[in-house]
Amino acid sequence: MAVDSSLSSPLGPPACEKDAKALRFIEEMTRNADAVQEQVLAFILARNADTEYLKRFKLGGATDRETYKSKLPIITYEDLQPEIQRIANGDRSPILSAHPITEFLTSSGTSAGERKLMPTIKEELDRRQLLYSLLMPVMNLYVPGLDKGKGLYFLFVKSETRTPGGLLARPVLTSYYKSEHFKTRPYDPYNVYTSPNEAILCSDSFQSMYTQMLCGLLERQHVLRLGAVFASGLIRAVKFLQLHWPHLARDIRSGTLNPQITDPAIRRRLADILVPDEDLADFLSAECSKENWEGIITRIWPNTKYLDVIVTGAMAQYIPTLEYYSNGLPMACTMYASSECYFGLNLNPMCKPSEVSYTIMPNMAYFEFLPHEPNAGGASDKEIKLVDLVDVELGKEYELVITTYAGLCRYRVGDILRVTGFHNSAPQFHFVRRKNVLLSIDSDKTDEAELQKAVDNASRLLLEYSTSVVEYTSYADTKTIPGHYVIYWELLVKEATNEPSDDVLRRCCLEMEESLNSVYRQGRVADNSIGPLEIRVVKTGTFEELMDYAISRGASINQYKVPRCVNFTPIMELLDSRVVSSHFSPALPHWTPERRR
Ligand code: AMP
Repeated sequence: MAVDSSLSSPLGPPACEKDAKALRFIEEMTRNADAVQEQVLAFILARNADTEYLKRFKLGGATDRETYKSKLPIITYEDLQPEIQRIANGDRSPILSAHPITEFLTSSGTSAGERKLMPTIKEELDRRQLLYSLLMPVMNLYVPGLDKGKGLYFLFVKSETRTPGGLLARPVLTSYYKSEHFKTRPYDPYNVYTSPNEAILCSDSFQSMYTQMLCGLLERQHVLRLGAVFASGLIRAVKFLQLHWPHLARDIRSGTLNPQITDPAIRRRLADILVPDEDLADFLSAECSKENWEGIITRIWPNTKYLDVIVTGAMAQYIPTLEYYSNGLPMACTMYASSECYFGLNLNPMCKPSEVSYTIMPNMAYFEFLPHEPNAGGASDKEIKLVDLVDVELGKEYELVITTYAGLCRYRVGDILRVTGFHNSAPQFHFVRRKNVLLSIDSDKTDEAELQKAVDNASRLLLEYSTSVVEYTSYADTKTIPGHYVIYWELLVKEATNEPSDDVLRRCCLEMEESLNSVYRQGRVADNSIGPLEIRVVKTGTFEELMDYAISRGASINQYKVPRCVNFTPIMELLDSRVVSSHFSPALPHWTPERRR
């Protein structure tokens, strides 16, 4: 359909009138980024003026940036722990926000081993929905005809709990998929999914995945885009197909649903969808029984134009695997968001993964940027001046600091971003990394202190064998599906006759897993997104060789520290060539949805 030329947008000609409106909104926000930011802060400060938190800093009714910056400290989650705990325990007074906290969003970032609890308010759903509504209008600028088919998206809800005071605590996407915004979304030809709501909303991850895969297979010719939130999720779906295609093909051949799918809502819905299709069953069996799975995505879903999946940040490690399975289809990273706040979107979603930049939308929150100079030394964070959204400088790195409608004030998100350009006056950022993350397979984030504690706890099991861990390092091995943590250990065995056996070292693996944070353990137990932890014992002297290697490449002897995580190929090759034995965790660690504290 030709669109009225008066609707045209500097981003490109919109596909329909609805898109034109969305693109105009992006233009308006990015042109007036500074003014919007000023208004957002003034609005938040005026509305939350009587909250306990803001009153503490005696703003005296001021809503301007200068006063705010001079009086409010920059904080981390730990600083807010007491307030969050009170809200979780049922204190309904306006502590952080004038609007009632409706639920907690459980972040994949952890504090003391448990997911951080992010307070949220009802209207935040509208803000998230608004950002989602901008994604397809942008995508339609680059990929025409997406209204002629469907999206196969693997979307899941996860377990939820209640805090002692009765508030729900669940991941932000679970909250979104269970909201009326999602469940009763109006029909939009550009946003039709093959997965029925009943499958997305089923909390049993096997039944949910099975049904979503089945529906995606039944409509394989209609699928124009295929995705999951993160790359790890899409790879897990491919692995699921590898394991379960015989059952799926049987269902398609017979037109009857696998009895393992017991969810009544799914069964009712599938009764309308699933009809016998012998040709499809034959095709699927022929493709899936081939030894070689290269290009399996494009073989099964031949009309797929792109993969819709985040492959920036820690997910970049999955790019080669996805390229292999999809014959190099483009990967679109459409948005950048968190439990605390949704931040922005990629205005050029078909670019190469290495070139992805996100434009922060100035209406989502008030954003400040803490200059991040890794080698600066000296200046404490207190002395460093934070910069406003429109004042960031091209090429520089910053840590993101947000002030949200729900009551986080000058809160450090922990993400490091680099400015790559501007759209109008709104900067665009490359996601550099999350601070302090050593290992990550799925949404788990393990830092150096957590790894150290896990090694300490596990190495205690070696005491009775007069053995100690002399050095260690780690590696996130994503060549296996699911990926798993590998920990290299160099041991000092004092009595050769009393060496720890394979069984003991396997118990060390499990002990490490027990010590890791709850997001890791949930990935192992509930999501099956992380494989058993592996200890690789290396020959005595290996870590000295590692040091020699680093020094030969220019490291200073005095300042050399053993890297606690490695991923540089020559180092991996050196370590792997010195492995004397390898041991895997024999069981699942403990995990329940309930928090330990
Ligand atoms: P969570 O609090 O569990 O919702 O995780 C939010 C975090 O995930 C962000 O702060 C980022 O570190 C990471 N993240 C979210 N979106 C992206 C993206 N598009 N690219 C890279 N990392 C992302």
